[in-house]
Parts: sequence; C-alpha cells; structure tokens
Amino acid sequence: MKALSVRDLDVGGRRVFVRVDFNVPLKDARVADDTRIRASLPTLKSILERGGLPVIASHLGRPKGKPVPEMSLRPAADRLAALLGTKVIQAPDCVGPEVDSLARGLRPGESLLLENLRFHPEEEANDEAFSRQLASPAERYVNDAFGSAHRAHASVVGITRHLPRPAAGLLMEAEIEALTRLRDRPETPYVAILGGAKTSDKIDLILNLIDKVTALLIGGAMAYTFLKARGVSIGASRSEDDRIDQARAILTRAAASRVRLELPLDHVVARSPAPGQACEVTPGPAIGDGWVGLDVGPRTREAYALAVAPARTVFWNGPLGLCEVAPYDEGTRAMARAVAATGGWSVVGGGDSIAAINKLGLSSSFSHLSTGGGASLEFLAGVELPGVAALADAGGGVQGPR
Ligand code: ADP
Ligand code: MG
Repeated sequence: MKALSVRDLDVGGRRVFVRVDFNVPLKDARVADDTRIRASLPTLKSILERGGLPVIASHLGRPKGKPVPEMSLRPAADRLAALLGTKVIQAPDCVGPEVDSLARGLRPGESLLLENLRFHPEEEANDEAFSRQLASPAERYVNDAFGSAHRAHASVVGITRHLPRPAAGLLMEAEIEALTRLRDRPETPYVAILGGAKTSDKIDLILNLIDKVTALLIGGAMAYTFLKARGVSIGASRSEDDRIDQARAILTRAAASRVRLELPLDHVVARSPAPGQACEVTPGPAIGDGWVGLDVGPRTREAYALAVAPARTVFWNGPLGLCEVAPYDEGTRAMARAVAATGGWSVVGGGDSIAAINKLGLSSSFSHLSTGGGASLEFLAGVELPGVAALADAGGGVQGPR
C-alpha cells in the first residue's frame, strides 16, 4: 500500500489535525534537544504555505493518563514558534470545548499546539469517544509521527475513522519509502549490522533479515548472548539468558543457509563499565572470569569493515559497544566510517545508534536515518503497523472530497 500524502490534500482554509512526535527531552522547562521538532517543520510548513491551519498534537513522556505539569508541551510550543517564525497558540488540553473554540479561531499563518495527549488514559486505550473528540475541531488528518505508528492509540488510529482521507506527513512518507525499499527491494550484497543492548526486542527482526541479507554482523551487548549460545565464555558481560535458545536457533538457521553470520573475534574488556577503568583487548572471542565486554576489538573492527565493503545495501541498528563512554566508542566509530566508505545505500535505525552517529558528526554519510525506533524494527520485521494501516491508500481511489 502506498499511503496518501499530505501533498495530495487540499488543505487551504482547512483545520488539519497533525499528529507529530514532540516527545523531546526537557531540561528546566526548556527543550534540551529540538531534533524532533525540526523534523516536523517540512510538513507543518507545507500546510501553512497552502493556507492550512495546523492543529498539532503529540505525546510527551509517560504521564500515565493524568496531567503532569512537568510533561506539558508548552516548552515545545515556544520552540516551534521560534523555528517556524509564526504564531503557535498553546491549548490548555487536547480535547474539550475550549480546544474546539481555539481551533475554530485560528487565522491563516497560525497554529494550535494541543496539550500532551497522554494526560488522558483514553489516548492509549484508543477510546472511541475520545477519538471523536480529538477529531471534532479538525477537517483533515495528517500523521507525521512514524515513531508512534506501531501503537494503536486514539491519535494514531481511532481518529482516522472520523476524518476524511487520513494522510501521511512528509517525515512519515520518507520513513515508509526507505523502510519499504529495505524490506522489499534491497540491492545485494545486503549487509546488516546489529548491536545495542535489547536482544529481546530484535529477535524477530533478525529472523526476518536472515533470509534476505548476504551477511549479518553482530556486535554490542547482543553479541554476548550469541557467543554464550555458541558455548564461548563471556565472563561478567551482559547477556539475556532467556534468549539463549532463540540465539542458538538463529545460529543454526544461518549455518544451514548461505548467510554469513559473524560474531566478534575479540573484545575490549574491563573489570567494570565505569569510566576511567583500565581496559584490555582479549586475544580471542572468549572473555575471562570477572571481565566485562564493552566494545568489539581491533580484529573485529577490521573483519567487519571488510565484510561491509562490497555492500550495495546496509542496515545498521545498535551501537557496537558502550559508545557513551570513551574509549568504548571505537568499534561504533570504525563501523560508521566503514559503512560511509561503501557508497552503498545505507539506513541507520535506533535512537542510540543515531545519537552516536550524530555525535561522531557522520550523519550525512548515511542515506536515511530512521527515527522510528521500535516502529522501524517492527516494520522491517514484517509487522503491519496500525498507524500506517489506518492511512488512506493513495492508489485506492479517492474516497470523498480532496
Ligand atoms: P538503539 O537505540 O540504537 O536501538 P539499543 O537501545 O538496543 O540501541 O542499545 C543501545 C545501548 O546499548 C547503548 O546505550 C550502548 O551503550 C549499549 N551497549 C552496546 N554495547 C554494549 C556493551 N558491550 N556493554 C554495555 N552496553 C552496551
Ligand atoms: Mg535505545
């Protein structure tokens, strides 16, 4: 399915409910990192420039269904107004008569930012009456929050039943396009690099990738679960013991197919992950008692760089080591350079992976940075995301007026 685009909507003079991801970090009631707000600008500008009136909504944090002043979107409204250079009115809530009248009072060039959707438990419950209330001040719906598309919440799914021709925002569109190409039409050789900490979240993804990739390079804390499954000692390193059986099944499947599955050949280890601890490089894949694996070693870096070199397609999720703490960012840094050097089509997914790449100043070396986190991983694993499924099919004929 190709989702209808905000570009195909006739937004002039209409109030457009825009679901964005303004789940930004706050510090002292100010936005500490505005990356996600900036990412929404193309869609908001596209609506404003055509005379549309954005009614913007997002969640922020986990207020658990009640108002929490520290999780108000007010700081985001201030930041958005500064970035757009236009007036952004902050609503006191996300539903109710006052919100409706503020929306109806919008004038061309102005936007309304609703208060945190998750101040109401009905949002996460995808409540029908709440969905209708959310829709009531708007005439069209645009979803630009790909990172929330794997959740069947009221502002993502329920609301789409109450507004005609629900469409994808530009950010959502770019994500769907890049991830569909990766999932359905990757050019080979296709090399996937998987690291990070959350093995349990990524098992389904690995199972799905194993039939498609030429090589699978595993690093990060995830590697220790796989090494343990292979019977290699991992000392005091992190592993997810309840996933060992699944890891073993993946190793068996890779061995039976023609996929090259590579595990680290050596590691950088220390007695503890605390900064400033003396570290060593292991002579081989085994880690001694009392030692913690914190990064891939130099032989692994070299082997992984060689393995990725011929790739026409690269997907990377998860840092190869404890990249927040120097010198354990070396493996991640080396991998980023090696991927950049391939000249192939490359996608990076995962919040921590993107943060690491931004910090290294290498973000422009990749074809697409997928901000979706869990949503990207589910999409690639072949799961139909409820928030994407709820959008109108651009190829499915026009239902109702533009
Ligand atoms: P992403 O957000 O990119 O999907 P994850 O959330 O799965 O990635 O994992 C990122 C985290 O994994 C980072 O905080 C990183 O420090 C940690 N990590 C990676 N390798 C190790 C390791 N060997 N030991 C401890 N933590 C690690
Ligand atoms: Mg993470």
